Amino acid sequence: MWQTEQQIHRVERVIRERLARLPVGKHPALRWRAKQEGYRDYVFGAKAGPKVDVQNIFHELGHAAEFGAENFATRCVEGSFYFKNRWIEVLGQRYVEHRSAQPTIREIRAIGYQIHFMELAGCKMHRPLLASSIGSALQYMTDWWHVPGEGDAERKANIVLAIMDFSEKIQPQEATDRLEGWLDATTRRWKRQKIDPATLGGING
Ligand SMILES: [Zn+2]
Repeated sequence: MWQTEQQIHRVERVIRERLARLPVGKHPALRWRAKQEGYRDYVFGAKAGPKVDVQNIFHELGHAAEFGAENFATRCVEGSFYFKNRWIEVLGQRYVEHRSAQPTIREIRAIGYQIHFMELAGCKMHRPLLASSIGSALQYMTDWWHVPGEGDAERKANIVLAIMDFSEKIQPQEATDRLEGWLDATTRRWKRQKIDPATLGGING
């Protein structure tokens, strides 16, 4: 179902209110744009597929926290996330090799951080329900077959358990610190590369 401009404006208003409640809500590197997919030009997007949704912004923030400041140099390439895969060469062709569930594990951890950010932002939610709704999308990951479990239902259940487990292991402060580390690394790079954030677009605050 397509969203009207009016509906998108409403989502924008909610995003602004929610982000303001985060401890890093006023950070200069917390830039966002509703009608953008993923993280581009150092701007967090709220679009996934055809839909602009509050939850998507928090998912992108979850990836930033998951990578953290220590991986900023290798994981933030020209202002976008770099999801590194292992390449193999077979008969002169390059293929992405999925030998493990590493990409899915990264998603599970990102969702764990996302849950904390949504709670800090005051989103009313039921953790297991959120874990199960986002977690079930992971069956479209290319490394799905490496997830332990007999059949899709069992794999899905294991993923939801892993998300719940990870989100319980981390504390809200730790999640915030990791996101802040990423944002601080962003401003340091802007300074070094003489990038004026105003030229990147998106909204700050
Ligand atoms: Zn993701």
